[in-house]
This record gives sequence, structure tokens and C-alpha cells, in this order.
Amino acid sequence: MKEFSYVRAADTAQAQALVAERPDAVYLGGGTNLVDLMKLGVAEPDLVVDVSRLPLDGVEHRADGSVLIGATARNSVLAGDEGIRERFPALAQALLAGASGQLRSQATIGGNLLQRTRCGYFQDVTKPCNKREPGSGCPALEGAHRELAVLGTSDHCVAGHPSDMAVAMVALDAVAHLRSPGGTTRTVPVDQLYVPPGDTPHRETVLERGELITAVELPPPPAGAVMRYRKVRDRWSYAFALVSVAAVVDVEPDGSLAEVRIALGGVGTRPWRARAAEAALRGAEPTDSALRAAAGAEFAAARPLPGNAFKVDLATDLIRAVVRDLADQATRKDR
Ligand SMILES: Cc1cc2nc3c(=O)[nH]c(=O)nc-3n(C[C@H](O)[C@H](O)[C@H](O)COP(=O)(O)OP(=O)(O)OC[C@H]3O[C@@H](n4cnc5c(N)ncnc54)[C@H](O)[C@@H]3O)c2cc1C
Ligand code: SF4
Repeated sequence: MKEFSYVRAADTAQAQALVAERPDAVYLGGGTNLVDLMKLGVAEPDLVVDVSRLPLDGVEHRADGSVLIGATARNSVLAGDEGIRERFPALAQALLAGASGQLRSQATIGGNLLQRTRCGYFQDVTKPCNKREPGSGCPALEGAHRELAVLGTSDHCVAGHPSDMAVAMVALDAVAHLRSPGGTTRTVPVDQLYVPPGDTPHRETVLERGELITAVELPPPPAGAVMRYRKVRDRWSYAFALVSVAAVVDVEPDGSLAEVRIALGGVGTRPWRARAAEAALRGAEPTDSALRAAAGAEFAAARPLPGNAFKVDLATDLIRAVVRDLADQATRKDR
């Protein structure tokens, strides 16, 4: 492991000034991803600026029904927050589906959003990888890609985004609050935080150098809607999603879908908002054939590889099961 300096930032301005002035400086949240990558030699920062103790850890439920979640709030704290469990259950379920209790107690919200891909070639510095070393190639295309993405991929990279939490946030229309080292603030929907790999897979997000995620805002959930996060994985715990679905659903009195939001994990290069499927379902009856057709519309643009083509059928089944169950639940709730 390369030697590095460590600073525990006293405040946000100091943290950002330190990262801005050193090209190889990085922020440290809980360290559960970054430190692993440093041990593997994948990340080699000169300076690590610990932001995990900055006072950005609140979970503020506002009068208008929105919630402001500080970027340094721990995953376990957010998962256990009563208001989140009651009003945004899909988010609590997604958090609890990720990693382990110990890891969730350490991991922060900002770090969870920016965790790196679990592609084995990316983590192995003896192998080429366009994301780690631009222009070196993508062995996953012909090699091990069972866990990797089928949507949003390019000829240069098929790495998937691993976060469960981000999938729920995308379904909930969450917005990230960013702060530049100069103090300028802006907001970016979590859905638009990640950039497609194209021919520059080393560029992963829209964040500028030194920009810090300070918070994530959840708008009020749609009145009357029900929601769920469901994850399919190889093992019951300690495993990343092969496919996951976060959905928000409401029905009209006649049983047709008044509201339907679907986000997918495990299949995309980013947490994947399934807008084509949503458009196909809005106003429709959630029948088996309508749900199958909607999933087909979403996966029309998929580029499955031999080892991960199964994800298309798996995701189709999961979308059908989750949306149908939620529609039933919403119907019962209305009675
Ligand atoms: C064994 C194991 C199993 C796991 N299983 C799952 C799983 O099933 N599902 C899942 O979703 N995740 C899983 N994870 C990943 C885990 O959720 C992430 O490691 C964790 O969420 C990262 O958060 P952190 O605060 O530790 O980030 P860090 O490791 O501290 O940082 C990650 C990245 O974010 C940057 N960063 C951190 N905070 C900020 C900020 N505020 N602003 C800007 N940049 C920032 C860092 O510079 C770094 O690049 C697993 C991890 C392990 C080790
Ligand atoms: S899929 Fe992406 S991360 Fe994996 S080897 Fe190819 S370029 Fe690297």
C-alpha cells in the first residue's frame, strides 16, 4: 500500500481546500470502499481527507414532507430512522439489503453513492481495465461478466454500479446537494449524478474536482403510493445485487396504474431509472402481459453478453412480481 497523509477535516471549507490544492487528494467517508481499493493498489491517493466527522450527519424531516439527509449520516442510522422506515420504506429496505450490519454502521451516505464498481478486473491491478487505466482494454467483455451490466454499457466498459441505496433514491427522485471548493452549491438529481461509460469509463460522475456531496434530499413521497425494494442475489447476505427493483406504485379506483416509478439495480452502469417501462405502464392495468411488455420496452436497448443475458429475464420477472404486488397492496389500502 502506498504511503499517504491523513487529515481529519475540522470543517467543510478546510476539507475542500485541502482536496482542491492536491491533485491526488481524496475525501474519506466511512472508508469501507476507498480503503479496500487503497489496499489493492487501485486507489493511490497522496492525501486522504476524512470528512466523516463533519457535522453533515443529520436526517431532517421537514414540514413539507421532504427529508434532508446529511452526506455523513451512516447507512445504519438512515435505515433505522423511524420517519424513513414509515414514509420511505423502499429506502430503508435497500439500505438493509446492502453489505452487513458492521459495514452499514461505518458507511456514509455520500460514500455509498460514490462507491466504485465491483468488477473483478477493476480491482486487480495485474489486469488491464479501461476504467482504472484508460486505453488498456476491457477483459470483462470476453471474460467474467456475469455480475456486470447490460444497460448503458459501451464497447469500452460494462461495469455495473453496485449501490442498493442509490437504486431506491433514484426511484424516489432524490437530489444530491453538492458544494465546490469555492463554496458554490448546486443540486443534481441522483439519477443524473452518474455518466455513461462511453469511451471514457474512468469518468464516472458529474462531480467536478473537489466537489463534495453535502446532503441528499428526498422530495415528499407521492400521496397514497406504496413502495418496495427487492433484491435478487447469489447469497442471502453479504452479496451484491444480480438484479434489484425499487418501485413506487399507486392505483386508480379502476385498478389501473396512476403512479408507477421503477428503478433497477444490478443491470445498469448506473442505478437505472426504467423510464421506458414506466411510460408503457402509466394508466395501464398491471396485467402480466402489460408488465412483460413494459420490461421488454426497457430492455430493448440492452446489450447483454453471453454470461449475463439471464439478467434480462430475471429483471423482467422481478419487475412483474414487485409491481403486481404493490398494485395489490395499493388497491387494498384504498378500500
Ligand atoms: C464486503 C462488502 C459487502 C458489501 N455489500 C454491499 C451491498 O450488498 N450493497 C451495497 O450497496 N454496498 C455494499 N458494499 C459497499 C458499501 O455499501 C460501500 O463500501 C459503502 O457504502 C461506501 O461508503 P463509505 O462511506 O465507506 O465510502 P468511502 O469508502 O469512504 O468512499 C467511497 C468513495 O466516495 C468518496 N466520498 C466519500 N464521501 C464523499 C462525499 N461526501 N463527497 C464526495 N465524495 C465522497 C470517496 O472519496 C471514495 O471515492 C459492500 C462493501 C463490502 C466491503
Ligand atoms: S468492465 Fe469496466 S471496470 Fe470492468 S474491466 Fe472492463 S473497463 Fe474495467
